[in-house]
Amino acid sequence: MSGVRIIFQGDRLWLSSAPALPEVEAELRLRLPEGHLALKVAEDHPLPEGVEALSLREAFPRMDPEDWARAGRAYQWLEWAAAHRFCGTCATALEPCEGPEAGHGRRCPACGRTVFPSNAMAIIVLIQRGEGPDRDLALARSPHFKPGVYSAIAGFTEPGESLEQAVHREVAEELGIRVHRLRYFGSQPWPFPNGLMVAFVADHLDGDLRPDPGEIEDARWFRLDALPQLPSALSIARWMLDAAVAEGAVGRLPGA
Ligand SMILES: [Zn+2]
Repeated sequence: MSGVRIIFQGDRLWLSSAPALPEVEAELRLRLPEGHLALKVAEDHPLPEGVEALSLREAFPRMDPEDWARAGRAYQWLEWAAAHRFCGTCATALEPCEGPEAGHGRRCPACGRTVFPSNAMAIIVLIQRGEGPDRDLALARSPHFKPGVYSAIAGFTEPGESLEQAVHREVAEELGIRVHRLRYFGSQPWPFPNGLMVAFVADHLDGDLRPDPGEIEDARWFRLDALPQLPSALSIARWMLDAAVAEGAVGRLPGA
């Protein structure tokens, strides 16, 4: 399907009870690579009748996952376009790159610098200890989580760092332990505002949990069959935890 219009007002997505969104005056219009049209309307634009403006997190349970992912992509493109209007070197207004090889970048007409849409890369790692259904998982809570929710360790990569190095560094910094045997789990575009979350499972190597008080409110080993409240189904953290629980349940079947 192509040609869908996706409208954001600030970081809120317009959802309509009608089949199509109304025509609007937009301050930013962007044709996305897949052919959809992303629009950003002014903060003070009145909300048309039958339209709600919801954050992407609020919209998630109300939307088909594919539509939600498309809205998340549109948001990332709009955010990038809004944040790259001027050259970072000489402050001249950027222009769209031209020609068949131009991609979706922007070019500075004064100094020639080009910029292309990019992701902030982040890692998330589910750390386990023990085997089969008797595994423990190291989960932590950050002060901005909802009360009672624990999740896997996550953090942004630094320039010049591999994903694996970022995992080892984040685990050491945030939990004070070491891990080994990293396995790739999957990845998820994370539109808050422009991330790509790359998920790993790893085994505990050594060290006792010593959470970084600056970032982590509490960290503990939880048995697979006694997990705390988990993050919402929106995030790859939850998909990893669900996969770990499902594997543990298989291990508990008679004869398994
Ligand atoms: Zn420039």
